[in-house]
Amino acid sequence: MTSTISPVRGMNDVLPEDELLWERLETAAAELFKAYDYHRIRIPVLERTELFRRSIGEATDIVEKEMYTFEDRGGDSLTLRPEATAGIVRACLTHGLLHNRQQKLWCSGPMFRREKPQKGRYRQFHQLSVEALGFDEPEIDAELILLSARLWRALGVTHAALELNSIGTPKSRAGYRDVLVEYFSAHKDRLDADSLRRLDRNPLRILDSKNPEMAELIAGAPVITEYLDEGSREHFERLKTLLTDAGIPFTVNPRLVRGLDYYTRTVFEWVTDRLGAQSAICAGGRYDGLVAQLGGRDTPAVGWALGVERVVELVRIEAAGDAEMRVPDVFVVSAGDEARRVGFAAAETLRDRVPGISVSIGSPSAGFKAQMRRADKSGARFALIVGEDEVAAGRLGLKPLRTDEPQLSLSLDEIVRQLSSALNRRE
Ligand code: ATP
Ligand code: MG
Repeated sequence: MTSTISPVRGMNDVLPEDELLWERLETAAAELFKAYDYHRIRIPVLERTELFRRSIGEATDIVEKEMYTFEDRGGDSLTLRPEATAGIVRACLTHGLLHNRQQKLWCSGPMFRREKPQKGRYRQFHQLSVEALGFDEPEIDAELILLSARLWRALGVTHAALELNSIGTPKSRAGYRDVLVEYFSAHKDRLDADSLRRLDRNPLRILDSKNPEMAELIAGAPVITEYLDEGSREHFERLKTLLTDAGIPFTVNPRLVRGLDYYTRTVFEWVTDRLGAQSAICAGGRYDGLVAQLGGRDTPAVGWALGVERVVELVRIEAAGDAEMRVPDVFVVSAGDEARRVGFAAAETLRDRVPGISVSIGSPSAGFKAQMRRADKSGARFALIVGEDEVAAGRLGLKPLRTDEPQLSLSLDEIVRQLSSALNRRE
């Protein structure tokens, strides 16, 4: 026997039975993106490796150890995108989208990181993300956070808490970095291997350590909010006021630094206590330096990305009660050669004439009883029954499958009318 081929570790199939939850998230998000006037952009999953090295930063987990990088047949080094922001900024520069213009964009699709697979952490996962380019006002940071809060409400998610911080400008951060290096150097004996490595290369990342043995040391470290420059401090104050005015609760977490180098000023994360260790469901911040870093003009920007698998899981836990499988409205059952032709054509007529209808034809070659069983199992509300008698009489049977009402013998026109009103009533 031929053996089957297993999937790549950490890469998942999303089966039809999960589709409703995915769709619920995607539909709610798309509506909100429209409500806030964000426009969709689609970018390739492959980019030049250089793009991610230059944007995300050499001394980050992603670039150091998580990227899927390979040489293609032409000898170029390419990388499967680990996140979307770099590619979106690249696309804006490629097409001149920032020439005297601002952009509010959203994007959706798979990301790739070679992490240790576990629940909520995969090697191919999906993000929905938004970016506002060309805006430096705290109103836009607030708008993006409000959009995400509105999304949780729309989805019935209540267990999401907002953590907020400001990490200032690269200049003010350099000052803080020195203080931090001094502090951790004085406690070198208590640093784990990862943190020791980060001490020279990227000391702020030590604050991001998930090692519980480091928690106490990290708790005693100087906090970045005390080293902010005046502009960043004011920006942060205004953002907090806007969130408070909008009734969005938040906690300032001075140790929130985020894993990517390009962030400036605002950083934030939505976390939940319902998903175990993989608690971050949405994260983002301001990246005022990135566009220039990638060769464009100085352009302030801010954005966030949410992890679709994690949010879907949270919706399943918190609000799945009303999640149903999608079922067809009508299942066509036919018996006999002529009836098969009539049934097949009738299904097309229904799709033509009844707006929004879902019609399923099973296996018309199967026996009548088997087809009726499948019709029932499909969850359809009606069976459209076509037998030799019906064909001879120029009529079709419409049988309600979810009630005890009797089967009706009707013309196709009458069926169109019946179904149009029956399906409308359901709305
Ligand atoms: P984490 O701290 O969990 O590793 P991160 O800081 O690396 O997250 P971001 O780069 O900010 O994550 O990505 C935004 C969101 O994408 C995260 O908040 C999370 O919900 C999701 N995400 C990130 N990495 C993965 C992954 N490997 N599998 C599933 N979802 C992920
Ligand atoms: Mg990560």
